[in-house]
Amino acid sequence: MNSYANQKNGIFLSVCSLDCPDQCGLLVHKKDGKIIKVEGDPNHPITQGSICNKVRNVAERLYDEKRLQYPMKRIGKKGEGKFKRISWEEAIETITSQWKQLIQTDGPETILPYSFYGNMGNLSAEGMDRRFFNRLGASRLDRTICQSAGVTGYRYTIGGNFGTDPADTLHTKLFIFWGINAVSTNMHQWTIAQKARKNGAKIVVIDVHKNQTGRMADWFIPIFPGTDGALALGIMHILFAENLVDMDFLQKYTVGFEELRSHVIQYDPTTISKITGVAEDDIYKLARLYGKTSPAFIRIGNGFQHHDNGGMSTRAIACLPALTGQWLVKGGGANKSNGGYLACNSRKLQRPDLLKNKKTRVINMNLLGQALLDIDPPVKSLYVYNSNPAIVAPAGNKIRKGLERDNLFTVVHDLFLTETAKYADIILPATSSYENTDFYTSYWHNYIQIQQPVMEAYGESKSNTDVFRLLAKAMGYEVPAFTETDEDMIASAIDNPANPYLEGITYELLKKKKYLKANVKPLLPGKLSTLSGKIELYSSTMLKAGLSPLPTFVPLVDDGDFPFLFIPAPAHNFLNSTFSNNDKHKNLEKEPILHMNIKDALLRNIKDGDIVRVWNHRGKCEMKAAVGENVLPGVAVTQGLWSDNQGAKQYVNSLTPDRLSDIGGGATFFSGRVDVEKV
Ligand code: SF4
Repeated sequence: MNSYANQKNGIFLSVCSLDCPDQCGLLVHKKDGKIIKVEGDPNHPITQGSICNKVRNVAERLYDEKRLQYPMKRIGKKGEGKFKRISWEEAIETITSQWKQLIQTDGPETILPYSFYGNMGNLSAEGMDRRFFNRLGASRLDRTICQSAGVTGYRYTIGGNFGTDPADTLHTKLFIFWGINAVSTNMHQWTIAQKARKNGAKIVVIDVHKNQTGRMADWFIPIFPGTDGALALGIMHILFAENLVDMDFLQKYTVGFEELRSHVIQYDPTTISKITGVAEDDIYKLARLYGKTSPAFIRIGNGFQHHDNGGMSTRAIACLPALTGQWLVKGGGANKSNGGYLACNSRKLQRPDLLKNKKTRVINMNLLGQALLDIDPPVKSLYVYNSNPAIVAPAGNKIRKGLERDNLFTVVHDLFLTETAKYADIILPATSSYENTDFYTSYWHNYIQIQQPVMEAYGESKSNTDVFRLLAKAMGYEVPAFTETDEDMIASAIDNPANPYLEGITYELLKKKKYLKANVKPLLPGKLSTLSGKIELYSSTMLKAGLSPLPTFVPLVDDGDFPFLFIPAPAHNFLNSTFSNNDKHKNLEKEPILHMNIKDALLRNIKDGDIVRVWNHRGKCEMKAAVGENVLPGVAVTQGLWSDNQGAKQYVNSLTPDRLSDIGGGATFFSGRVDVEKV
């Protein structure tokens, strides 16, 4: 495949690698061998040339002088950040000799890979790495930190990661952005909604924080955190009671609507108003608006799924378009994730057959702190890539305590000396996605795209695939799986006869066309992947799994006697911790802020702009108070995972719980309680 890395001047096609649904097509401008500008590709069918601030400024990050350039070994205490340059040969030899020894004395399960989607490239995120750790027999990581609760709740209802085609939402007349700050985290869905608004569409935003998106809505509905499922059940109560349901659709395409009708009688608007904080009149108004507008589309966000009851909340919301028959209307329905349409051949890509012991233990990534401190047999080596758990994972103080263990051999492969890397024994410099060959499959807009390198590897940095090839060779793994080229891996991963939506899409065609869309068809009519083949309002699969078969509201777990629910939401200029250590992006984001209601602030003598301490039994951090009415009383919201590289007193995940969600083993970042006081 072509590489543009060596070309000094020109404009080259690229793709955004960040964990963002929009997956924009990019044009990279180079002058004298250096990237001088990144802009959106106007020819991308959905993102059409617009990109966010984060990536418009990405060159600052790619050439940031803080980038790691060569492998290093630790010479100071863990966490201190003192390292010495070594060669790649020494790094690989040190890692593999430690692992060979560990495998002999303690067994391969004492080695734990830890990664997520810091780079969404399929090869970078789940390619050679998975093959390698399967062959090694390492503990398996359950990668559930982001969408797991919601996706599982949605899957019980709809059967998979399939929803409305974003292109169709140009026809939508009612948008409900539910638990998503789309302006910051799905900007092109917001752009489409703006276009539809010009044709008369209304935009409703339901959220715990009147953020950038809420401020631009036609109607913003504030809600108490963790009560979204209750609001959905209250809407269902009214839809049934006022005969706003589509009986023909319910009879043909759903299972369990009669059970659901009886079940939601208990969720009357008076009860739901007390639970959610949404006025009774507004619940009626919303249900009637939803029941009477077509096409009506719900963009199901990630917000509410980061609660103890996140899986069930998503399931409850996912039932709504079935009640009104919106799945048969172009521009109607819902979108939680469209990842199923572009599902590639994971058996070929990840080679699960290389794992000999099928009973190898599985560790939930949200319990990393517990795994490093308490598990038996103990984790003795941790290999971190595409992630920065010391700042992004819940119950962060436990994780840092675990990372401090003298008998833990830690390797970190990253672009920067992250908070996690400071605890490493060996650090490996990583290439950015702009230096790699890879392919990208959007979980929102259904297009697949190839990435060809557009810049040369920075310093001595290497891609994930290359590092695992080196590790495999040094471990003596002769299987051809480890000598395949990136191009071979892409070609075989795209070839997935089990996914009809990929039919006709080949590597050759993709190289030629640049953007290819999955063969997306409307969800219905057709057979879904649920047990019944229909939308399951009543799920016997859930019953078998010990869950309530009907969507049900369960309050949050008691997290201690603290007056505020604490919501650490995404920032506009960071993507999780990515960019939080880059000066340009930090300047754009300005500083860590805690949004609180004026009533709460008055009680504590806190004024707008005061520095406040946020604390609970897990940890503490400090930030500036923003006092007003953007959140309800009893709610405290901050945005962004600020780096503590420069000694900022901000480390929000020291406060978050490491409980697991009701469904899918998801994170419960937003179900932690805190107190707030003026510093
Ligand atoms: S972060 Fe999202 S919106 Fe920004 S360029 Fe990447 S894909 Fe596009």
